Amino acid sequence: MIPSSHPRRESLLIREKLVEAMRSGVLAPEGLIAHGRGECFDYLLGEATQDFARRAVEAAVALLLTAKRPVISVNGNVAALVPEHVVRLSEVAGARIEVNLFYRTPEREKAVAEVLRRAGAREVLGAGDTDETIPELFSERRRVNKEGIFSADVVLLALEDGDRTEALVRMGKKVVSVDLNPLSRTAVTSTVTVVDNVVRAFPAMVEAARNMKGRTDLEQVLKSYNNTSVLHEALRFISQRLLELAQ
Ligand code: ATP
Ligand code: MG
Repeated sequence: MIPSSHPRRESLLIREKLVEAMRSGVLAPEGLIAHGRGECFDYLLGEATQDFARRAVEAAVALLLTAKRPVISVNGNVAALVPEHVVRLSEVAGARIEVNLFYRTPEREKAVAEVLRRAGAREVLGAGDTDETIPELFSERRRVNKEGIFSADVVLLALEDGDRTEALVRMGKKVVSVDLNPLSRTAVTSTVTVVDNVVRAFPAMVEAARNMKGRTDLEQVLKSYNNTSVLHEALRFISQRLLELAQ
């Protein structure tokens, strides 16, 4: 039991969810370590959605809503933390959902798909049907579904490794990533990077998608968006925050 007054309550509850997901086979142990790296950046960001993340969410949703074949790529961490929001976003944005795992085993892909179905997903690709490969990647990391990520024009992913993000971009896809580390290769390579925690970014994307659907200026939103300046802003935010705390 975590007392409601505990200053790190939210963060501890998230850890418990992830440990539970690991015990039930949804999350690989390495997923816990990846989350820990993210937590450090979240601490530096003040554990809140900052302006640069809000702007990225708007661009991310504009990209999803204007895509022809958008796909939401889901790994163990995302399934453990925000399965309902993945399903809602896929419904509002007309995006397919695909299980895409770094440590892919038949058991884990089934477990992740099951979590998504329990959260309401009617279709989940990527479990037992990965018949295509991402070029330049090796082993189980490269397997994708032909109708899903393989032929997607826009892929939304989170806690993704830089190699795979780079490979997707080289395939000509636009990539939206949610990544707390503005310095990661995924953050730097993506078309739109939401520097925020998935537990805040996914609900924000669902809300933005509901509000922005039907808007006629989505192309304009995308034209005026610059991911490099958003990443620079995230770095300046962290620097300034640390300098202020050190006064
Ligand atoms: P890259 O491979 O892109 O250079 P990396 O090797 O540092 O990055 P990975 O372990 O491959 O990182 O991917 C995990 C990424 O997800 C990290 O950048 C981490 O900061 C981020 N991350 C961890 N937890 C969360 C979370 N809850 N929300 C958003 N991002 C997170
Ligand atoms: Mg990596």
